[in-house]
Amino acid sequence: MGVLTGRTALVTGASRGIGRGIAERLARDGARVAVHYGRSEAAAKETVAAIEKEGGSAFALGVELGVPGDAEALWEEFDRHADGLDILVNNAGIGGTRPIEQLAEREFDAVFAVNVKAPFFILKHGMPRLRDGGRVVNISSGLARTAVMPDNMAYAMTKGALDILSRDLSKVLGPRGITVNSVAPGIIDTDNTAPLLSSPGGRRQAEAISALSGVGEPAEVADVVAFLVSDAGRWVTGSWVDVTGGSLT
Ligand code: NAP
Repeated sequence: MGVLTGRTALVTGASRGIGRGIAERLARDGARVAVHYGRSEAAAKETVAAIEKEGGSAFALGVELGVPGDAEALWEEFDRHADGLDILVNNAGIGGTRPIEQLAEREFDAVFAVNVKAPFFILKHGMPRLRDGGRVVNISSGLARTAVMPDNMAYAMTKGALDILSRDLSKVLGPRGITVNSVAPGIIDTDNTAPLLSSPGGRRQAEAISALSGVGEPAEVADVVAFLVSDAGRWVTGSWVDVTGGSLT
C-alpha cells in the first residue's frame, strides 16, 4: 500500500524527462497513472512498461497539445480508460525560444499554445472530472522569476502566465478541497536541456547557477510533486515551489 493507493493521476508529457520521473514516482506511491505523450509513443509505452515492471499501474494516452480542440481530445481519450481522477500534473511543455529580435510570431504563438493555452483548457474541461480533495500541479520554471536567460523570454513569459493560473485557480477549487500549486524546476537534465548541457562548458556553466553547484535530475522534481499531491501536502495551495537547487538566490 502506497500513500496514493486508490488514486488516479494524469501526467501530461510523461513519455520523457521530468514528466516520466513524476509518473514513475506517483505510480511507486500507489497511484494509477495516465502517461500522456505527444509524439513519443514508444517512449510512453516504455514508461508504462517500467511502471508495470515495478508492480505499478499505468496506461498511455497520446494526444497532441497546442492545437485546437486538444483538451477535449485528451479528456475523451482519458475517459476511455478511467472514471474521474484525483491528481492532474500539467507538465508537457516546450522551451528553447529565441532572443526577441529573432523570434517569429508563429513561434511565440506555438510556445503559448502548448505551455499556457493547453493547461488552461485541460483544467477547464478537467475540473468536473477531478474529485473533491484532489490535486493540481503545474510545472513552471525558475525562469519565471529571474532574468538570467533573457533569450528565453517568451518561454519565461509562458511560465509566468501558468503561475497566475495556479494562484487564481486555487481560489476557484479551494472550496472543493482541491489544491493547486506551481512547481518550478531549475536546470534539470532532460532532452530539453541537452543542447545546453552538451555544449562546450555548458554543464559547468549550468552547475554554477545553482547554490548546490549541480544540475537537477527529474527525480528531484518528482519528489516535491509527490509531497504536494499526498495527504501531507493538504494545506499547501496557490503556492510557487522553488525546486531550482537555489538558482534564484
Ligand atoms: P522534455 O524532456 O522535452 O519532455 C517534454 C514532454 O512534453 C514530452 O513528454 C513531450 O511528449 C511532451 N510534449 C511537448 N510538447 C508537446 C505537445 N505539443 N503535445 C503533447 N506533448 C508534448 O521536457 P522536460 O525538460 O522534461 O520538461 C518538462 C516540463 O518541465 C516542461 O513544462 C518544461 O518547461 C519544464 N521545465 C523544464 C526544465 C528543465 O531544465 N528541463 C526546467 C524548468 C522547467 P512527446 O515527446 O511524446 O511529444
